Amino acid sequence: MTKYVYDFAEGSGKLNDLLGGKGGNLAEMARLGLPVPPGFTITTDACRAYLRTGREPYGLADEIGLHLERLERRAGRRLGDLLVSVRSGAKYSMPGMMETILNVGLTDATVAGLAARTGDERFAWDCYRRLVQMFGRTVRNIPAEAFEAAGDESPRELTMRYLRVFRERTGEQFPQDPREQLDQAVRAVFGSWNSERAVLYRRQERIPADLGTAVNVVAMVFGNLGADSGTGVAFTRDPATGERGVYGDYLANAQGEDVVAGIRNTMPLQDLEARDKHSYDELMSIMATLEEHYKDLCDIEFTIERGKLWMLQTRVGKRTAAAAFVIATHLVDEGVIDLDEALTRVNGAQLAQLMFPAFDLSHGARPIAAGVAASPGAAVGAAVFDARRAADADAPVILVRQETNPDDLPGMIAAQGILTSRGGKTSHAAVVARGMGKPCVCGASGLDVDLRTGRFTVDGHVVSEGDVISIDGTSGRVYLGEVPVQPSPVVRHFEGEPAPGSDPLIRAVDRLLTHADKRRRLAVRANADTAEDAARARRLGAQGIGLCRTEHMFLGERRVFVERLILARSAARRDAALADLLPLQRNDFVELFRAMAGLPVTIRLIDPPLHEFLPPLEELAVKVARAEERGENPGHDRELLDAVHRMHEENPMLGLRGVRLGLVVPGLFAMQVRAIAEAAAAVPGARAEIMVPLVGAVQELEAVRDEAQRLLDEIGVDARIGTMIEVPRAALTAGEIARAADFFSFGTNDLTQMGWGFSRDDVEGAFFTRYLDLGIFGVSPFESIDRDGVGRLIRIAVDEGRAARPDLHIGVCGEHGGDPASIRFFAEAGLDYVSCSPFRVPVARLEAGRSAVTAEGSDTR
Ligand code: ADP
Ligand code: MG
Ligand code: MG
Repeated sequence: MTKYVYDFAEGSGKLNDLLGGKGGNLAEMARLGLPVPPGFTITTDACRAYLRTGREPYGLADEIGLHLERLERRAGRRLGDLLVSVRSGAKYSMPGMMETILNVGLTDATVAGLAARTGDERFAWDCYRRLVQMFGRTVRNIPAEAFEAAGDESPRELTMRYLRVFRERTGEQFPQDPREQLDQAVRAVFGSWNSERAVLYRRQERIPADLGTAVNVVAMVFGNLGADSGTGVAFTRDPATGERGVYGDYLANAQGEDVVAGIRNTMPLQDLEARDKHSYDELMSIMATLEEHYKDLCDIEFTIERGKLWMLQTRVGKRTAAAAFVIATHLVDEGVIDLDEALTRVNGAQLAQLMFPAFDLSHGARPIAAGVAASPGAAVGAAVFDARRAADADAPVILVRQETNPDDLPGMIAAQGILTSRGGKTSHAAVVARGMGKPCVCGASGLDVDLRTGRFTVDGHVVSEGDVISIDGTSGRVYLGEVPVQPSPVVRHFEGEPAPGSDPLIRAVDRLLTHADKRRRLAVRANADTAEDAARARRLGAQGIGLCRTEHMFLGERRVFVERLILARSAARRDAALADLLPLQRNDFVELFRAMAGLPVTIRLIDPPLHEFLPPLEELAVKVARAEERGENPGHDRELLDAVHRMHEENPMLGLRGVRLGLVVPGLFAMQVRAIAEAAAAVPGARAEIMVPLVGAVQELEAVRDEAQRLLDEIGVDARIGTMIEVPRAALTAGEIARAADFFSFGTNDLTQMGWGFSRDDVEGAFFTRYLDLGIFGVSPFESIDRDGVGRLIRIAVDEGRAARPDLHIGVCGEHGGDPASIRFFAEAGLDYVSCSPFRVPVARLEAGRSAVTAEGSDTR
């Protein structure tokens, strides 16, 4: 028969799946000989069975009866004279999300006994009052407002009134059989697993919905028995900074819930020493024992009953990102854990958090709007509604748009941050901003953005061009005026500036990153298109450039060359346009090679469809119509308009782009390869890698490769030639493609789009929320790699590519290269490197190190 109930003496921390964190740790403390009130834990198995069938599993009632008897024997009192708490506690901590009921067992009959035993009648009635209130709320769903204190009632009068409220609301007497109270309370705690806030919390924290909660039945101890009693919470270290010391709050003459409820002012834990030195010393010694046992920061709930200390809860405590780094390295210094273990105590998301500037909200700034937290960090500037004006502005600006497009790039680069009223985490604004490490709030749908008049309105506020606003890309909030910003000391340190005042954190980050570098097998490169980005990437520890997008080199004033290329009616004109582009491109590459001298630079040949470089159809159509109205000859605009019509594609993502363009437009790829080769020849130590995008068949790659190799030979330069793997067919025929490729680089954005068959720009807003609700995926596959589907394509390509060519060098570029969960997968899949935006490089280094020291699929929550 299944065992549903464990005495604290039988349990242990290893049984957290069954006993929950609270139960497992209570058992653990009991085993350590710490003063834990006696009690037992009903397993998550029992909860799951109850939730499935709507009633207790067979045998549970008897088992509870047995354990209750044991408890009664130890206490020397029967339930009723013995009171218990009935406490929820799941495998993962869900603070305050589920229910706990105190003082279970009190009835009209037993309250007198409690009063006699303690010699404190007010106290006894106060306990009963709390029970009726908590039981009424949790077990019978009576609204909290029904139980309000009127001020001058005595505890006894208050209890009497609450008992009446209970009767009126439920039509029943408050249960006068202690065992009946206990059973109902257990059921209510089971049920609280599915309370609205618990469900919401689990979804947010990605805690599985089917675990269920355990229920702990614990003999009551009383902190509300006068001045020599009290209750408190404590941390073994400062959860905000990680510093060693005593941190906690204590409340005299109170029951546990009062501390959290914030009804009365607590006193600092240190002050307990003066009040009750004996309990204080014992608590300090217990905290040391717990740290030694858990080898980590612990948080604790305790109660003192008439000078006797009782431990009611402990767990490895939550902490800020900064504290995580400091604590991990302190524990190494104290000889408690080694550096490998320390690496597992921090993660990339925490490091990323430490790298963003943050708002100082201590002055009480109030948000006026909220949107999607698309790219973290804090930014302040004057609202500007036009990219060109943003680029020309002298003062810091926030670019505000309904949405952004590639033409807005100069303005986005110039702006401190970007705010849009439309689009989600994968909108153009979000993707570009994250790549640049720039704060972005998008999809703030409350904003009514009027580009014509240059202002937006929200909730009664009007913000006109030039008005200062503050946006927080970490929380998605928008503020009126200037909220003070604190730059990240960690980034300043990476960039080589002295960062005073936060040395313990800086030292901790450096130490763990250094260790990660030592342990990781995965190399980390950066995506960078300019010498400036490349230099920053190096400072942040990049070992090369994994993706240089050449299309950015065709924007701005260079557009005219592309227009000439597109409009060329003869081979001669086309060649002339390309010849004019050549020196510009060559110069870009020279700068890049110089910035990265000695490190590899992977350059992707042009990828997007050429019509993306032409002005938008509507704009041209209006221009042409106006000119014709005035009787003028639209000339060039007419030609462009015709070209836009001619080149229109229903599905540009699946159209004439990437390698297809190279095979169709004569001389285009050749010009780029020549520019790369000549630049490499000009910079000593340059290591060029030429990457062909969108290949689906080996023949495509062979055709490009032959021409490229001829040019390289002619100029006398050595360069690897490889391909992106981003079309599913390429992954599935990787064995053949590897014969023509020196390296593979997974373009996981396109591979995800084409693998799932949805276009990223369209689907996010349309149905991703629904898909997340339905559990079709737990996180957007554009944010974190879809291991089962897209990941399988990657594994096939790695295995078959390496089988055909053992020295094949394999990496990943695309946003997943900087995502902690995805990096773990890439390490497991045996890739050689990841490439991500410069700001993500330290995060990737850390995560790569972490995946090297922890086992596959290990739990890092
Ligand atoms: P949560 O998980 O929300 O913290 P708990 O189960 O820990 O809920 O209980 C809520 C409060 O009641 C805590 O402050 C706890 O210390 C206190 N408490 C729980 N059981 C007992 C007990 N047996 N005796 C005294 N106080 C208790
Ligand atoms: Mg608690
Ligand atoms: Mg791509």
